[in-house]
Amino acid sequence: MISPKFFRSSTGEIPLPVFFPDATRAVVKLLDTKDLESTKTNGLLINTYHLYKELGLPFIKKLGGIRKFMGWDGALISDSGGFQVGSLIKKHGTRLGKVTDDGAMFRLDGKKILLTPELSIQIQMELGVDMVVVLDDFTDPLVPRQNAKESVNRTINWAHRSKIEFEKINRKSMRNSRRPYLLGIVQGGYYQDLRKHCIEELLKIGFDGLGYGGWPLKQNMTFDYESAKTISENTPSNYLLYGLGVGKPCEIVNLYKLGYTIFDCVLPTRDARHGRLYVYKADSIEEIDISKNDFYEFYYPTKSKHQDDFSPVSMACDCLTCKNYSRSYLRHLFKIKDATAGRLATIHNLRFYSILMEKLSLFNI
Ligand SMILES: [Zn+2]
Repeated sequence: MISPKFFRSSTGEIPLPVFFPDATRAVVKLLDTKDLESTKTNGLLINTYHLYKELGLPFIKKLGGIRKFMGWDGALISDSGGFQVGSLIKKHGTRLGKVTDDGAMFRLDGKKILLTPELSIQIQMELGVDMVVVLDDFTDPLVPRQNAKESVNRTINWAHRSKIEFEKINRKSMRNSRRPYLLGIVQGGYYQDLRKHCIEELLKIGFDGLGYGGWPLKQNMTFDYESAKTISENTPSNYLLYGLGVGKPCEIVNLYKLGYTIFDCVLPTRDARHGRLYVYKADSIEEIDISKNDFYEFYYPTKSKHQDDFSPVSMACDCLTCKNYSRSYLRHLFKIKDATAGRLATIHNLRFYSILMEKLSLFNI
């Protein structure tokens, strides 16, 4: 079976690999969509839970797809709310909600929101995304085996319910030929036999791709490549493999070598706002060599002692920031805390990631 070379979007086909920056609430912080186009960003990741909470389903339905609302005509994926099961509910005991077999109950601002697998699919279909992600029961990698097993069983059960809902909506709207991708999520923490079991069951249900679920870092903060490998080795090659929340540039390169072609992460945008810029160790885009272990470094404008450094942030970048402004000016903007500093840094970091995708597509593995 042949691995997919393109990501099918309702606005056209996008070459793989592709990186989706986080536009959680339908915006990449500090940027508008024209800025995003200038960074050659092909796709965005929005969040089902947050958009449902902020906008409500009736308004989302009224929009007829969120693309027009946010002025975006690139690819779009929605995270199911599964990550919030981990980040909001499980991390805070029962204070912010609980997870039952029915779904995830969030308790926020005095309101209760029950996000069921079916509701998550309904919202995502109304958002009009290109890839719908099933709601999963996020497994913290440090939990005992019994808890990881329960999460896997619930994830499989929810995946099954999600598929039924997905097919029901597609049948109703008669758009089966132009339906979005449906992504299953593999849980199981560090327990490789649980990961394998989860994959086997998800393959029986049938999806267009599988995603690496759960927190990808081990206790010592190194990346859990073993689980990533278990997923890629046990998934048919015609499936899309998605490294959810991944990651650092070197992790992306390593996962690509394992067959992963879709990535998303808050790192480039969050780091930019905090004054951490990614710089290739090269004098031009052509000279970038991602096969080296240390192919990039960081530049911190706020820590720079050189007020008179009038060189661009990176010689190996063609972004709006590097073409028009110097390190000295960026340092000044960060120092006076002007919002433009974050905007210019975000534009640069996103172009760093889109260059990484371009380089990967040329990479022989
Ligand atoms: Zn740049």
